[in-house]
Amino acid sequence: MTHRRRYRYVEMNLAPDPAADPYTVRATCLTCADQSPEPEPSQSITGQHQQAQRWCTSHAARDHPDGRHLRYTAHVTLRWLVTPAEDIGPIAP
Ligand SMILES: [Zn+2]
Repeated sequence: MTHRRRYRYVEMNLAPDPAADPYTVRATCLTCADQSPEPEPSQSITGQHQQAQRWCTSHAARDHPDGRHLRYTAHVTLRWLVTPAEDIGPIAP
């Protein structure tokens, strides 16, 4: 039995997800995998960036003064929502 499906092209729009925090900046220590604290959603992205950097220097100097936690990565998470430009109907079975 052959099933035929019909497809059509629908334009999709991409925008920040209004149901989520629009961005999060966190740092991770590459030595022990500790992460900087979850930032407050009300903080600007620059403020979150600066807080993550301060956490890195504090983690290296205060948490590990032996000087072995010196490498970090920074993760910027942007939450997006794709919205079809027109009704695409129910989810196919
Ligand atoms: Zn560490």
